[in-house]
Amino acid sequence: MSSQSRVVVIGGGIAGCSSALALAGRGVSVTLLEASPRLGGRYCSVDIGGIERPIDGTQNVFFRNFERFFQLLATCEARESVKLQNSTLLAFLEVEQRRISKIRSGTLPPPNHLSASFLNANFLGLGDKFSMQKAVQAMQNIDEEQRRELDELSFLEWLENNGQTKRAISRFWNPISKLALNVDCSQASAASAIFLFKKALIGNANALDVGCFTNDFTNAVSSSLRRTLAASGVDVLLSSPVTSLFREEGVVTGVNTKEGFHAADRVVICTPISDTARLLTGSSASMKSHEVAESLAKLGNTSQIGIHAFHEGPILPQGIPFVSCCDEPLIQMLFDRSGELDDGNRGGLPGHWICSPVSHADKYLEWDDELIRTEYQRVIDSAFPNSPALIGFHVVKINRAATSMKTGSQRLRPNPLDAGEGVILGGDWINIDWPSSLEASTRAGLVAAATYLRESGVTEFAEWNHEEKWPDWPNSANKEDEDWRIWK
Ligand SMILES: Cc1cc2nc3c(=O)[nH]c(=O)nc-3n(C[C@H](O)[C@H](O)[C@H](O)COP(=O)(O)OP(=O)(O)OC[C@H]3O[C@@H](n4cnc5c(N)ncnc54)[C@H](O)[C@@H]3O)c2cc1C
Repeated sequence: MSSQSRVVVIGGGIAGCSSALALAGRGVSVTLLEASPRLGGRYCSVDIGGIERPIDGTQNVFFRNFERFFQLLATCEARESVKLQNSTLLAFLEVEQRRISKIRSGTLPPPNHLSASFLNANFLGLGDKFSMQKAVQAMQNIDEEQRRELDELSFLEWLENNGQTKRAISRFWNPISKLALNVDCSQASAASAIFLFKKALIGNANALDVGCFTNDFTNAVSSSLRRTLAASGVDVLLSSPVTSLFREEGVVTGVNTKEGFHAADRVVICTPISDTARLLTGSSASMKSHEVAESLAKLGNTSQIGIHAFHEGPILPQGIPFVSCCDEPLIQMLFDRSGELDDGNRGGLPGHWICSPVSHADKYLEWDDELIRTEYQRVIDSAFPNSPALIGFHVVKINRAATSMKTGSQRLRPNPLDAGEGVILGGDWINIDWPSSLEASTRAGLVAAATYLRESGVTEFAEWNHEEKWPDWPNSANKEDEDWRIWK
């Protein structure tokens, strides 16, 4: 690696920041160009009329198996900004019956660690549970090659082919698929869904421990990223959208912004798919570059809605931090967001905050807030009668929020070098199996960094893959590690 070489990273979301930090940690000179005035990317806190402070657009859900993301938080000294369950607890609410079933990990090794509590759970019948056991076994028996061949099959078809009951699908498989793959299981790629459930249920008994941010995302993460990038010597330029790539004889040798030109030996692109497709096209762009842009355009995004309700007091019973609402298409989950925040981070909220994230929300974008409020109130009144009054209600609609893992999406996800021209791709949509998430974006950024280091002859990265720890960063959030906070 020449001491003169400079990498320009485009996009200051989690992927771009991960990539820039990883490269800078290996002595590479990095310029990070971000279009907006802050770091952190598309998941961000927003200003809402009637609330005296920014709040997160919707609930952010993550799990202990987000290993590279926790490594990133650790290297940014941002461990304090998250809490994690000490062992998995998932709660399922049957609204009309006013009944909550708790699924907890027990003493059996995975994939049977949740079995005992599933057997006692009321939200599923015995037939549903036996069918689910079979599906988990079937997933366990699928090897990587077979799994990848299921990309064109919908997850719903796979579930039906594997004897799943309607109730097991609607109350267990589909809600998790929708939350994580951003698409209903009738449209989701079976290959992506099986990847997800294997990661969550097979191997590590703590993989599904749920985590939460103890502050708003922008406060919790942006400033830590900024500080760590500065300390690592990365040249961060905010409010600097890249307008085009500069090509010389078929090779990208720099980028243009409104303020001027930035020369680069390599350009790493970590922008959302639509911005990436724009950068990769144009009259001087190569055929390969155009082909990647075309694939990205087909990949597509689905929308998310954040429902933010403020009550005079708590709604969920003590010890239940969130519930998945069975058979509720709009009010899919309820999170006690006030309970997640640290004491000092609740200022300016108009009441006790319940956040209800709506995944694959495109069909609800047209709904007005009053209609959404009526649905929310119906669920709360049915499930928790006489609960503290609703005193504030806000809806945040986020169009094209996250990449949806639809059938065929796997083959559309490009590899880092697919665009040619000396460009390295590193957004959360590259070919790394993980669905669009904080974990996918961290891994994508690291894969892009490793690609550059490998090409530059750093032998340590010749065989590195994102299932391995990033060697320069502290450990992930292992259960035994006392540096991480427990979500009680
Ligand atoms: C509403 C919502 C809810 C979500 N919920 C969850 C969740 O619960 N759990 C989870 O794990 N994940 C969730 N995600 C997904 C997760 O936030 C994303 O996968 C992740 O943030 C993507 O990171 P990224 O760095 O790849 O892209 P981005 O975050 O999109 O960052 C790309 C950056 O590039 C910048 N940019 C764009 N064009 C240019 C340009 N021309 N020049 C310079 N900069 C440019 C953008 O301003 C942006 O900052 C959610 C996302 C959204 C939007």
